[in-house]
Amino acid sequence: MLDCDLIIFDCDGVLVDTEPVTNRLLAECLTEIGWSVTTEESIERFKGRDLNVIRAEAEAVVGRELPDFLPTYRARMFEAFERESVDVVEGAMELLNVLDETGSHLRCVASNGPQNKMVASLTSAGLIGRFDHEGEARIYSAYDIKVWKPEPDLFLHAAQEMGVSPESCVVIEDSASGVEAAQRAGMRVVGLAGLTPADKLSEATHVIESMHELLGALGV
Ligand SMILES: [Mg+2]
Repeated sequence: MLDCDLIIFDCDGVLVDTEPVTNRLLAECLTEIGWSVTTEESIERFKGRDLNVIRAEAEAVVGRELPDFLPTYRARMFEAFERESVDVVEGAMELLNVLDETGSHLRCVASNGPQNKMVASLTSAGLIGRFDHEGEARIYSAYDIKVWKPEPDLFLHAAQEMGVSPESCVVIEDSASGVEAAQRAGMRVVGLAGLTPADKLSEATHVIESMHELLGALGV
């Protein structure tokens, strides 16, 4: 059983089902600049990774600088979050409801995405407000500290802000880079397989196929 005081949730793919739409838009933007990529290839290659690194890879592939690439992608993403409502990842709402009832764990969100992306997607999915603690939204972005997963810093920052030691944290992640970050932070990590197959998350402490399995694993 994963006894812990703090559960740190990744955002995309763990709470909100944004990966299909964001990777469709990323593939579209890459294809437009001359690097032909499908949504499936984008998920396989880029999910959970730092967008600045993705832009640098794209610049290397097409052989020129791409100053408009990220602003264009982000503008389309925010438009899509407003236009289409973002789904909650299956089982995530039930888990949050049980955690509310038992009051057994602190929780927060820690993502490679910018704050405004998390706020937009969590709002669209109806999850905004579910990570408030002591009057503050406990939503931590790699952009706030300028260090991205797979570096461990974001998870360590989140734990410190929440006042919990790394060994008392469990991270929920759906990407290999997030699993690596959690391990390097000295935290146990649950890998949620789905868009990323279970074998790519095998470094995790525990691999699940659905958020429904988490309640048993956490012993709540
Ligand atoms: Mg993710």
